[in-house]
Amino acid sequence: MRVAAIEGGGTKFVAAVGNPGSITEQCTRIATTTPGETLPQLLDYLRAEYKKEPFSAIGIGSFGPLGIDPNNNTYGVIGPTTKPHWENVNFTKEFAEFQVPVAVTTDVNAAALAESILGSARSCHRVVYVTVGTGIGGGIVINDQIEQGRFHPEIGHMRITVSPEDPTPNGSCIFHGNCLEGLASGPAIERRWGAKLSTLGENHSGQKLQANYLAQMCMNLLLTITPDTIILGGGVMQTPSLLAKIRLELRVMMNHYLPQFASEAAINKLIRAPAYPAFSGLVGAALLAQGFHRELYSKESIPCRAT
Ligand code: ADP
Ligand code: ZN
Repeated sequence: MRVAAIEGGGTKFVAAVGNPGSITEQCTRIATTTPGETLPQLLDYLRAEYKKEPFSAIGIGSFGPLGIDPNNNTYGVIGPTTKPHWENVNFTKEFAEFQVPVAVTTDVNAAALAESILGSARSCHRVVYVTVGTGIGGGIVINDQIEQGRFHPEIGHMRITVSPEDPTPNGSCIFHGNCLEGLASGPAIERRWGAKLSTLGENHSGQKLQANYLAQMCMNLLLTITPDTIILGGGVMQTPSLLAKIRLELRVMMNHYLPQFASEAAINKLIRAPAYPAFSGLVGAALLAQGFHRELYSKESIPCRAT
């Protein structure tokens, strides 16, 4: 089934047309500047693809906040965002000329869907995906369905305990100060240490601090959502050995509560890296457009890319 997929990010929009299993092979990138500049380029690309061969649906995973309730007239509309000019952009309206269904969700919900159906979590029923980058955001997929209520999860703004070893204990979230995002996002790390985490060196105290903050998040998610896996993606997670440090911190923090997560092997299975670090939002948007039925993806048809 030929569908159009779009991932809308703070720095770039990525789009591709094709089948979810192969969609990452050819995609186009457009810089995120203003809607007046970015969206016409996106539409030109889609029009050219449609002319080659029509697509039957459009899926988009975008930065938010975003209206995601199809029964509400804010569906597909960007809410109050820190990105200038993007508030009130209405994706369903922008793509109306193709006269195909437009499915909209957040970039992290789309990523969670992709990892759940095709990626690292393809054997799991209850999946949380979290990106740790410019911001922190998460999506939840349970039994192949995106889990959300009247608004999407806001995992990045959960409250965590500030470490006594934190040299900048006042976090940078403009709403909450020291919520998770205020303490552990890429910009929060750079504000604290004046450098990216990956440049600090493996034994730098900033690494343990970061692992502690993300382990607190994992523990909260584990205890509330009871996921089979928590997948950690985003720029900050490219720091070598951060994943291993988070797993260790989490195991110590859990302190044998829930015996099934007491072993190293169980924690390694629980906390995973994404299979599609660069493209999960795009793949998820394609799955969303298609209706994401697991039956379409038998193990034989698409190779498992889990790491
Ligand atoms: P975005 O969140 O804008 O989609 P990223 O997920 O790449 O993009 O996140 C960008 C943030 O991640 C930056 O604040 C930067 O500090 C951090 N970052 C990017 N690459 C790395 C890396 N290799 N190691 C550590 N931190 C990184
Ligand atoms: Zn916050």
